[in-house]
Amino acid sequence: MIESSCHCGAVRLEIETPPREVTDCNCSICRRYGVLWAYYPLSQVRIVPPSGATDIYMWDDRAIQFHRCKTCGCVTHWWPVDESRNRMGVNARLMDLAVLAGARVRRLDGANTGKYTGEN
Ligand SMILES: [Zn+2]
Repeated sequence: MIESSCHCGAVRLEIETPPREVTDCNCSICRRYGVLWAYYPLSQVRIVPPSGATDIYMWDDRAIQFHRCKTCGCVTHWWPVDESRNRMGVNARLMDLAVLAGARVRRLDGANTGKYTGEN
C-alpha cells in the first residue's frame, strides 16, 4: 500500500498499488491545478477521513468533484458523481517522491484532442 497526503496531513489517501503511469493533462483545470493524475478503480483507494476534510469544486457538466484540503488547499483527488464509472483520480504530486519517480508521465492533450501525445 502507498499513501498520498496533503501538505498539512488532514487528508490522506491509502492506495493499494503505486501508479505505473500518471497523466499530465493540459485542459483548463488540470493545467491550473498543476496536478499529475493517477487513475484507480474506486475500491482501490481509501480516503481518510471519508468526508468533511475537503472542499469540492465542480464545473462544466459537473460529472466529477475536485477535492481540495480545507486547511492547506492541496488538490487531493477527483471523484465521479456517478460512481458506476468506477474510476477516480489521485493527485500523484502528493505521493512520495520515490513513488512518483517510478511512474512514467504521459502527456494528455485534454485541451484539444483528448488524446495522449507523448511522454515527459
Ligand atoms: Zn491539508
